[in-house]
Amino acid sequence: MTELERKQDRAPVPSEWTYASAPEARDIVALQERYGHYVGGEWLDARETYTTISPASEEALAEVGQATPEEVQAAVTAARDAYENGWSDISPAERAKYLFRIARILQERSREFAVLESLNGGKPIKESRDVDLPLSAAHFFYYAGWADKLEYAFPNRRPKPVGVAGQIIPWNFPLLMLAWKIAPALAAGNTVVLKPAETTPLSALLFCDVLRQAELPPGVVNIVTGDGRTGVEIVKSEGVDKIAFTGSTEVGKAIQRELAGTGKKLTLELGGKAANIIFDDAALDQAVEGIINGIYFNQGHVCCAGSRLLVQESIYEPVVEKLKRRLTTLRVGDPLDKNTDVGAINSKQQLEKIEELVASGAEEGAEIYQPPCRLPEKGYWFAPTVFTNVAQSYRIAQEEIFGPVLSILTFRTPEEAVEKANNTPYGLSAGVWTEKGSRILWMAERLRAGVVWANTYNRFDPSSPFGGYKESGFGREGGRHGLEPYLQFEDGA
Ligand code: NDP
Repeated sequence: MTELERKQDRAPVPSEWTYASAPEARDIVALQERYGHYVGGEWLDARETYTTISPASEEALAEVGQATPEEVQAAVTAARDAYENGWSDISPAERAKYLFRIARILQERSREFAVLESLNGGKPIKESRDVDLPLSAAHFFYYAGWADKLEYAFPNRRPKPVGVAGQIIPWNFPLLMLAWKIAPALAAGNTVVLKPAETTPLSALLFCDVLRQAELPPGVVNIVTGDGRTGVEIVKSEGVDKIAFTGSTEVGKAIQRELAGTGKKLTLELGGKAANIIFDDAALDQAVEGIINGIYFNQGHVCCAGSRLLVQESIYEPVVEKLKRRLTTLRVGDPLDKNTDVGAINSKQQLEKIEELVASGAEEGAEIYQPPCRLPEKGYWFAPTVFTNVAQSYRIAQEEIFGPVLSILTFRTPEEAVEKANNTPYGLSAGVWTEKGSRILWMAERLRAGVVWANTYNRFDPSSPFGGYKESGFGREGGRHGLEPYLQFEDGA
């Protein structure tokens, strides 16, 4: 490092240095005042409704249906009819055609979807624009490619669709989780009843318009909205052959109990408490960017978030110093501003959960750091937070916070890093930062995590399977593996 670089590295960030606001126009999104359920290719007027809001401003956006048991049943019946009367028999290449169309329409309408996603969910527009939307379209493109190649994907096993898939998704990546669920289900020849999360139903409802544009046959995809009660009805429905769920471990366990002995197929993608492990030979500036991306991306509402930072003891001080400095440059605020790095917390309930866990961290003895930042008065907000002095037993080191909160621990040897990283009931993801390829492989072999990122974090691609061990669930989404839960085979698997 030259003297000049050393000086720049230590220079404080000027406090008066700000970005001019760069708001994305909202008028590309035309919201209806009231939405029903999308059943059999038609809008079914909802008997009961609730108001969905923008978490950044608490502004009411629309009235949305709270599906009753009868409405859920109507959706399941429509899905069954569509399955038995055409969809499962049409040629796989024809199925692919619809998926390609959906993918292309999502690309064409990506700005509209990105604005809506940020409006209803609170995530920064640069993330919905650059991550959620491109990945959602990519998922449909990817599975469109598999639709007529199932015999090659599973040679000598004669793959057949399962039937009607019930799909329940969370609020952190509403459209992307929809894509993760619907694309492989349709590619495999199934029909679908999907429920978006209570707080983020709007992109799934706009997606119904995409289905119409793509001329998908009626009933192949049905969307019902509502809270957990609607989810329970889907899970219980006798007309559903497979449940795919992404959400909390607690609800995942309840679903597994409910389905035990029914013969229905089940995949669960649940919580996580990932370790992001930094060795002393890592490129520190890159690693710090990886730490930031690992935990503050999407306000930390990410099941695979790198929420436990394990730093090798010899580099603890420079890493914490660089990290704190970088935190002061994060811009928290309006999700529709193109400069925003950290948006709004998705709901009041989630904000309370974060506040409660953060308070427990301070009480148990950890040291809290938050950069100076002015949070908007309206809406749900939480400043990016770092905890040092964290013991493994603290709740902030054990429980999923699902917010912009990082707990830092240290280690001395690779063995200790592995032991600490695996010391959690979860096993979804992990990150390793080191210059040595052999060490990456050594670590990846020992980490009990479905995904291990090396010298990067939060990278997704439709072709790589994603899923967990232990309390993070079972089954894989993405890749060839992601087709399997939506297929049955002649060998009975
Ligand atoms: P939930 O598990 O409650 O929600 C996930 C989805 O399941 C939502 O659509 C939800 O509906 C629905 N649901 C709720 N209860 C039931 C039920 N009994 N049967 C069937 N479906 C049900 O997660 P929360 O939204 O409440 O978040 C709680 C915590 O879960 C978070 O703080 C976070 O720690 C974790 N979480 C993990 C996610 C992950 O990707 N691994 C994603 C989201 C949350 P509704 O929206 O109405 O609740």
